Amino acid sequence: MTEDVMIGKTRGGSDWTPEFVTALNAATCIGCGRCYKVCPRDVFELVERADLLDNFDDDDDDDYDDDDEMKVMAIKDAMDCIGCKSCSRVCPKNCHTHESIAA
Ligand code: SF4
Ligand code: SF4
Repeated sequence: MTEDVMIGKTRGGSDWTPEFVTALNAATCIGCGRCYKVCPRDVFELVERADLLDNFDDDDDDDYDDDDEMKVMAIKDAMDCIGCKSCSRVCPKNCHTHESIAA
């Protein structure tokens, strides 16, 4: 069984391997919105950092209230990604992880 990676072609006929976004590190994201603006698809959404933390320990953390109100980027629909990597090129914090996929 072959594990060929999905390969496309440029207009000029050269091989081009899409690298799809698989994760976004909310811990390093500063919510600048650059990846959202540059993405040609409907992959990202801005969310409240507090919403991402809902699944974690809910101790009384008044010291972090300001951080909780901060917005950060999240992946809304990874299945809409075309693997162009524009998001990573503009991100100042190297938040995105990409993977090519098997054809
Ligand atoms: S790789 Fe391209 S299509 Fe996919 S999330 Fe990043 S900018 Fe959007
Ligand atoms: S470009 Fe990077 S830092 Fe800015 S919102 Fe996107 S993931 Fe966050």
